[in-house]
Amino acid sequence: MAKKLTATVVGGGVSGMTAALILARFGHEVTLVERSPVLGLTVRGFSRDGVYFDTGLHRTGGLGENGPFTQYLKFLGLGDLPVVWYEEDAFETVRFGNQGRDIALPVGYEATKQRLHSLFPDEKQGIDAYLDAVRRVYNSAPFIHEATDIRAAFAEEDAYDTFEGFVNSRVRDPILRAVFSAYSMLLGYSPKEVSFLQHARVMASAIDSAATFAGGGAALADGFARRLEEAGVRIITGNGVSRVNFSSGGSIEGVTLDSGDMFDADTVIYTGHPYYLLNIVHDGVFAPVFTRYLRTPAETPSAYMLFGVSDKPLFPNNGCNLFYCRDTDFSSVFSPAHNPLEGPFHITTRPGTGLPRGKRMIEAAGEGYAVTAIMAGSFASYLRWKDTRSGERGPRYAEFKAEKLDEFREALYVACPETASVRFLDGATPLTFRDYTHSPSGSVYGRKHTLMQHNPQPATRVPGLWLAGQSIVAPGVLGAVISAFLTCGFIVGAEELHAELNR
Ligand SMILES: Cc1cc2nc3c(=O)[nH]c(=O)nc-3n(C[C@H](O)[C@H](O)[C@H](O)COP(=O)(O)OP(=O)(O)OC[C@H]3O[C@@H](n4cnc5c(N)ncnc54)[C@H](O)[C@@H]3O)c2cc1C
Repeated sequence: MAKKLTATVVGGGVSGMTAALILARFGHEVTLVERSPVLGLTVRGFSRDGVYFDTGLHRTGGLGENGPFTQYLKFLGLGDLPVVWYEEDAFETVRFGNQGRDIALPVGYEATKQRLHSLFPDEKQGIDAYLDAVRRVYNSAPFIHEATDIRAAFAEEDAYDTFEGFVNSRVRDPILRAVFSAYSMLLGYSPKEVSFLQHARVMASAIDSAATFAGGGAALADGFARRLEEAGVRIITGNGVSRVNFSSGGSIEGVTLDSGDMFDADTVIYTGHPYYLLNIVHDGVFAPVFTRYLRTPAETPSAYMLFGVSDKPLFPNNGCNLFYCRDTDFSSVFSPAHNPLEGPFHITTRPGTGLPRGKRMIEAAGEGYAVTAIMAGSFASYLRWKDTRSGERGPRYAEFKAEKLDEFREALYVACPETASVRFLDGATPLTFRDYTHSPSGSVYGRKHTLMQHNPQPATRVPGLWLAGQSIVAPGVLGAVISAFLTCGFIVGAEELHAELNR
């Protein structure tokens, strides 16, 4: 084995836990430090009135038998986590309010193709061109599939066009264009600013399959925590890394924690939001231009979220999710003047008592459905409370929050009258998101991955200091896992890591 490293992984989210397990598997000594009291806070969810609500993981792709997520989980020793599948036939409905039209989308390429062919018979060519291109990009994306010819990922015609440009040159129907754009909107990207390549990499796994873990995101976080202990990773929670310490020669020699404790490290992987990287290194470590670049990110939007319960399924045919948009033209949605109460909104429903092993989503219901709804929101309205902590924000914040959530509830009801049967129990504001997603303005998915913004790379100019996380490669739990594999590939050797993965 190459030299044994003494590594500290900063952040116990999905990317940090993945990176810690990979390094431990290669025989390195690993300490994982998480400032929150628990590992995997972003995906852990919470319970109200005995009902479990997911927060940072509702669904993911790639969990099929040979799916990339499945392969990664097996490698990490988490291959036994039971998976629950969403309904295949009416997984996601896209509703266009002004047109009075609902388009129910199934899961799977062929099923999606057939459904869209029957709904848009004049657009068969464009539908095939879009879906086939998405699949080709996905199948050739490095670190998504093992048998990857990296050149193929870049050979896709128009892959660097904007997503909007790519779709508009193939599809004429505005409703169909908007259907294809819906998922990109959910991830906080305007179709005008994201490349087709980036869109396809994320979108493909969503078309391919839709599942989550029995027990929700909490089960994934618990599974990781168990494996980390088994792998001998030293875990520190409730204490953050406040400083990376350097020798007089400029190499990393350790870290200091919030508590003041210090320990040795020659390798540090930072997985928090890149904006806060500057808080843990001293001035002058990075060039001013890189410092500015970290401090002025284009972020995905923040959000409001509502959590409630319903005794019955909300949507026909056991549909689980609804994406509401008022119109097919999304161009104004990302402008600062846009009123978020006009939508888009996204509603997710699932059995509220956890997700029993081996069941499909709807079969598992019995004691009602947990309902979550989300709409974009701006942190700017919360600046006056930016220095306060949860539970200590006073009555004015409570009033403001209640008012905003009432407005959201009413707008949601007008757009989706099905929500009349929902008893709402709690809600989150952009300030809640700021605290739970650990991003400066409460962005749901960290930095945007757009054509206008190249995000930080895994390697920094400091030998031994690496970056991973959703802002580095792609948003979502699978994006966070892939980013950890990519970064660890630099550390342990990409070929060695691939060889281990394929064993
Ligand atoms: C509302 C919502 C819904 C979502 N839904 C889905 C979904 O359905 N499917 C999906 O795939 N993805 C979803 N996501 C996205 C997904 O949850 C994230 O992409 C993923 O969890 C990010 O993982 P990460 O490790 O990159 O970042 P994080 O989870 O943010 O982990 C970084 C960790 O670093 C810690 N940290 C930072 N600085 C320090 C420090 N100095 N010292 C110690 N610790 C530090 C933070 O406390 C944090 O825990 C959703 C996200 C949100 C917010």
